[in-house]
Amino acid sequence: MKNKIIKPKTLKPGDTIGILGGGQLGRMLGMAAAKLGLRTIVLEPNVDCPAAQACNRHIIAEYDEPTALGELVNACAAVTYEFENIPASAVQYLEEHVALLPNSVALEKSQDRLTEKNFLNDIGIDTAPYYEVNSLEELQSVVMSPDFQQNLAGILKTRRLGYDGKGQARVHGTDSPKQLLEAWESTGKVTCVLEGFVNFIREISVIAARDINGNVECYDPAENIHRDGILHTSTVPAKVSNAVVENAKSIAAKILSELDYVGVMGVEFFVTGEGSLIVNEFAPRVHNSGHWTEAACTVNQFEQHIRAISGMKLGDPSRHSDCVMVNLIGSDVDKLDSLLAEPNVQIHLYGKSIAKKGRKMGHFTRIS
Ligand code: AMP
Repeated sequence: MKNKIIKPKTLKPGDTIGILGGGQLGRMLGMAAAKLGLRTIVLEPNVDCPAAQACNRHIIAEYDEPTALGELVNACAAVTYEFENIPASAVQYLEEHVALLPNSVALEKSQDRLTEKNFLNDIGIDTAPYYEVNSLEELQSVVMSPDFQQNLAGILKTRRLGYDGKGQARVHGTDSPKQLLEAWESTGKVTCVLEGFVNFIREISVIAARDINGNVECYDPAENIHRDGILHTSTVPAKVSNAVVENAKSIAAKILSELDYVGVMGVEFFVTGEGSLIVNEFAPRVHNSGHWTEAACTVNQFEQHIRAISGMKLGDPSRHSDCVMVNLIGSDVDKLDSLLAEPNVQIHLYGKSIAKKGRKMGHFTRIS
């Protein structure tokens, strides 16, 4: 049985929020908190991290370092996080000593693709068909099963620690034992799920927020394009019917309510040719596909998250402009001068010194 967890409360200006994780999402949360008169402390082992430049204090330590966690709970009225792979011991300590928002249930479900899909199906939300795979032998037998042979293609994904398409391998019903061995080895031979391949026509995501009283607000869905497994653009409005927009928002709201969630969540969907929605995954945090809200909404996803976890009223998620958000990956950031010259473009750089290949350096949003 779980020990008693600390309930959320309403924060006042001058109170401090702790943020686990020092990447760009932590940085933008720090900026949003400052706008609302709140202070922030980021816990992050990397010295030169994007969030440290925008938060009041940086505790340089591993996420599960007991002294650092003790310092954080003593100084903070609430603690949140910008990534989901927080060590279990840290989660348990935090929720017993401070209001940890979003709660640990949402974290546990989203940390493991199998648990996440079981939860979604249990509450009546569709996912891709999936199979648990714990060994090469299990992979071989799932691929030979009549169900999989009907679909004939799938994606083997590690249950934990995958992101931006990492830890994934394509699998076909016709694969030879050698090809299956290669797929299994490429995931690192860890526990996996094999997902049936979904023939979607587009990918959309909804950024949803829930406050401490259970009120939910959803931004309009964004249509997302990925390149090399990394989000490239988010366009709003998505090219889907109003019925799909409303359905996506109501599915997102259901996930938040079932989890008794407080904060912002990103829910990713596949849209099929028939207009049905399949949830790919959810992230219990602000989300890259919600960065467009900075430029096209009065209250962006970062402020919305800070409002939610601070016990404040949620902002109006409606959009004043159509827009496209483009990630600046690696050397894309060299386009800065031409972007600066464009009207209707809002630029956001993350303060990272080295533009490595595949690294998210910033983004811009072009509004119309
Ligand atoms: P994920 O890491 O699960 O978000 O997957 C990364 C990307 O791979 C998604 O955004 C999709 O473009 C694609 N993908 C993931 N799962 C499936 C699936 N079951 N069927 C088809 N495409 C998928």
